Amino acid sequence: MHISTRALALATLHVVFLATIASAQSGAPSVAIPEAVTATAKAQITAGALEAPIRFLASDALEGRGPATRGDTLARLYLASELRGMGYLPGGDNGGWEQSFDIVGTTAQLPAVWSFAGKSGNVELKLGADYIAGSGVQSPSAAINDAELVFVGYGIEAPEFKWDDFKGVDVKGKVLVMLNNDPDWDPKLFAGTTRLYYGRWTYKYESAARHGAAGVIIVHTAPSAGYPWQVVQSSWGGEQFELPAESEPRIQLKGWATEEASRRLVKAGGFDLDKLVTAAKSRGFKPVKLGVRTSIRFDNKVSRVRTANVAGLLPGSDPKLKEEVVIYSAHHDHFGIGDPDSTGDRIYNGAEDNASGCAQVLAIGRAFAALETKPRRSVLMLFVAGEEQGLLGSKYYSAHPTIAAGRIAANINYDGGNYRGRTRDLTQIGAGKSSLDALAQALAQKQGRTLVPDQFPDKGYYYRSDQFSFAKIGVPALYFDKGYDYIGKPAGWGKKDQEHWTEHVYHQPSDEIDDTWVFDGMIDDAMLGFEAGWLIAQANDMPAWNPGDEFEAARKKAIAAK
Ligand SMILES: [Zn+2]
Repeated sequence: MHISTRALALATLHVVFLATIASAQSGAPSVAIPEAVTATAKAQITAGALEAPIRFLASDALEGRGPATRGDTLARLYLASELRGMGYLPGGDNGGWEQSFDIVGTTAQLPAVWSFAGKSGNVELKLGADYIAGSGVQSPSAAINDAELVFVGYGIEAPEFKWDDFKGVDVKGKVLVMLNNDPDWDPKLFAGTTRLYYGRWTYKYESAARHGAAGVIIVHTAPSAGYPWQVVQSSWGGEQFELPAESEPRIQLKGWATEEASRRLVKAGGFDLDKLVTAAKSRGFKPVKLGVRTSIRFDNKVSRVRTANVAGLLPGSDPKLKEEVVIYSAHHDHFGIGDPDSTGDRIYNGAEDNASGCAQVLAIGRAFAALETKPRRSVLMLFVAGEEQGLLGSKYYSAHPTIAAGRIAANINYDGGNYRGRTRDLTQIGAGKSSLDALAQALAQKQGRTLVPDQFPDKGYYYRSDQFSFAKIGVPALYFDKGYDYIGKPAGWGKKDQEHWTEHVYHQPSDEIDDTWVFDGMIDDAMLGFEAGWLIAQANDMPAWNPGDEFEAARKKAIAAK
């Protein structure tokens, strides 16, 4: 077959024209980036630029970067030194590179038996088997005195879904019994089976505190939690880490009970758990006083250590827009030195989790610094501390942002990097929430990759890494998991290797870098994040949440306050 040059040119034009129409119709954003910008970034985001920081941060010399250890100090010094060398300005507090904060550890010494007195009988819950709890206060003891139990359904107030489980009922001083998860039977309600923040246990405790409750018992079922009772037991058994208490309201006790124990509990007041659950599934639900009372008192061991976020700022080139910022984040902490594994290794190096994320943010930082013309908005490289203790560094930053929340255009978070090779796909955690989706989609397409949504939307992964701290203050945030469809590997290999990793490496001393690591996949992911940030920094308008999204109200508030 022969096609004349002119016919080919016309055909090409036609394709371009059609593509333009398609893009305008679908509302796909332009991802046109000057060749010089991409070339500069490519020259900086290299295998060497990614491997070197991982080799250093995950070395035994850094002793696993546990908060407030020597390794923590060294990691922070290294990150700040790198940013300084690239020409960033100190982006922390008081003109420095760091933003320091305390991590408070609380170990509750709970009673072996927790007693309840009801109209229809008494109930005793055994610690571990029936109930588990943590302290809601950071003081030497916590107490609930003769409080009534009130069933509040899901404990949710969500004006955007016209849902209010409290209906103005005063629950001050009460112990609230709540269902886990959020309503999931209607795709139009709380995003169907996707778990929104309303479905996370942290929301439940915060919601109770806002209402002045004394304590909470979440009814645990494996489907509603997304994990078995053993996980509740092991994650609430020991020391709980938090930021120091400020002026926020607090409950005394954050509890969980098994479904079986909850059944006995409500029965002591003459109620049937199944009927209560059915009632809770309606918008018209009102809190139910259970006719059961309880007292509990326990001591706490409280400890405090100090760590810090590290931040570097690259001012934008537009006199006005430079007041706004795109924030890249990666947590620099890991678990330090702990229990040995079967080989006797006690250093939790955290190479993938999250030296690899730090390396990607550093490489992206290098790319921005090398640009001849800086983007219109400023860029902040933020390395947060205490993620493994519950997103503490990003939580602290979002409560004390160095730039007002309403001026933060977007957050792009890196937690984990792909060391296995290039993939045809890329997983977006938290798709369907903001205008960043279309941008991510178009950029993945540009790389010839398919953007796939989170395979486990019921598990709420969007709320389990640092991007969530930004979303909560209204900042649209992007977070990618790896792709799993590896070029040059058989189908299913990526998932299998990931499963092996989760079981044998994740949060274990064996999370180390070795010579099997390759960086071409990580380069793709870092380039995609760079391009996303560059486009956000250049655009006239900041990204926005989709109308009706759970974080839209927080954004409006933040923008009004900036
Ligand atoms: Zn981790």
